[in-house]
Amino acid sequence: MRILIARLNHETNTFSPVKTDLASFKPHWDEDARQFANGSNTALGAFFDYCIRKQAELVVPLAATANPSGPVEDAAFEKMAKSIVDALKQPCDLILLDLHGAMVTQRYDDGEGELLARVRAAAPSTPIGVALDLHGNITQKMLDNSDCIVGFKTYPHIDMYATGEHVTRIIDEMLDNGLQPAQAWVHPPMLAATLKMNTNEAGAITDIVNLARAAEEREGVYGVTVFGGFPIADLSETGVSVVSVAKTQELAQAVSQEIADEIWKRRSEFLYLEEPLSTSIEKARSAHEISDGNYVLMLDHGDNCMSGGTCDNMDVLNAALKAGFKNIVAGPICDPDVVRKMTEAGVGQRITITLGNKVAADDFVQPKQSLVLEGLVDGLSDGDYVVSGPIYTGQLCHMGRAAVLRTEQALILITEQPHEPWDLGVFNCAGIDPLKSDYLILKSRMYCRPVFEPSAAAVIECASSGVTSSNYELFSFKKLGRPIYPLDDHAVW
Ligand SMILES: [Zn+2]
Repeated sequence: MRILIARLNHETNTFSPVKTDLASFKPHWDEDARQFANGSNTALGAFFDYCIRKQAELVVPLAATANPSGPVEDAAFEKMAKSIVDALKQPCDLILLDLHGAMVTQRYDDGEGELLARVRAAAPSTPIGVALDLHGNITQKMLDNSDCIVGFKTYPHIDMYATGEHVTRIIDEMLDNGLQPAQAWVHPPMLAATLKMNTNEAGAITDIVNLARAAEEREGVYGVTVFGGFPIADLSETGVSVVSVAKTQELAQAVSQEIADEIWKRRSEFLYLEEPLSTSIEKARSAHEISDGNYVLMLDHGDNCMSGGTCDNMDVLNAALKAGFKNIVAGPICDPDVVRKMTEAGVGQRITITLGNKVAADDFVQPKQSLVLEGLVDGLSDGDYVVSGPIYTGQLCHMGRAAVLRTEQALILITEQPHEPWDLGVFNCAGIDPLKSDYLILKSRMYCRPVFEPSAAAVIECASSGVTSSNYELFSFKKLGRPIYPLDDHAVW
């Protein structure tokens, strides 16, 4: 038996000006991809292990993943898609793909649908199993060109491998017992806020994912996935949906409809109402007064790089400085010009910089003025560190060169590339100890929490006008299916 497995992952924020080229994916090809798959805690890793159990001949043309950012450049998509399609010139018995579900390319709004259509055209009678991310914006084209789609049930995502295994269980029944699964997709017209998809918290998403798990126990139901969707994508299908895989089309349709009805009933619980930044600043001040020496963690979730943020929006830092906060640690702020100037000046030199608010996005509010700051170049670094925390432990990370500006109120980490503050190493590599701050301002929504939340006196979510804002009124949607909840009061279903 010959099995093709591959991974191509991207969550596209169509409003993000952060470019996504081939290098963004750090693609592994062929033998290198095979080595990546072996032991990887991903759906691809589960596919690999399944192939070993089946004693199959394994073909791994590609393993590629990029941080969320703007639409994937056409050349990058074509090269990666071609590697998969070309590998099918030699016939396979099975195809297993680890995809995201919210990839947009410059040319195709539905990146995964386009890829799957090409794969199906190259191997019309070969079963295709697909693992997707909970944040996928699903389309009928994806279902029409696959046999079985299963997505993650957790956010933060800790069941990537388990999702891959789930796909292989269904596929295995197809191969060995002639199962012919049917799939149905139901899509209520609503956007859900990413901050309302945390499956570690009690709430609507957790209840509804549990309903999906319970439905999977029913006779003839093989998989039920609640897709929260990725709301900052201007596509006709953006939003919440449910995909069921079952013995018959009727059963798959009925289960998807039942779960989607429950989501629609509880739609107001998927709304995240941002408080004004001024309120968050006052909350942070009050939290600091009773903090007992621990820092107040302020999350600039409107500009986080794991959703396509430019990491150069200055709203939150500016407000904290104006409020008179002292002993702030903030970052990473992406501003390659400033890093270059500070590197040229050298450690210990006094400098005036014009920081951030430089990268403009189409169809979005324009940046405010850059922040003019005076201070000392306190540290310089190559921006490389090894992760010591729980997410991607042991991985070597690069954030471009880094520089630290010390002002009277703050230590500010500035980097050449957008980078998620998910580890102490982000700051330690530039000589900053963030745990000694009074106010720690991170450009993050979710990924920093395992490391920085436990020792924080309080966690304050701060709204900024960055391209990962939870205020969907800021985005000029043009293609999004309308009416849609919560943007349109008259949205009905
Ligand atoms: Zn996700």
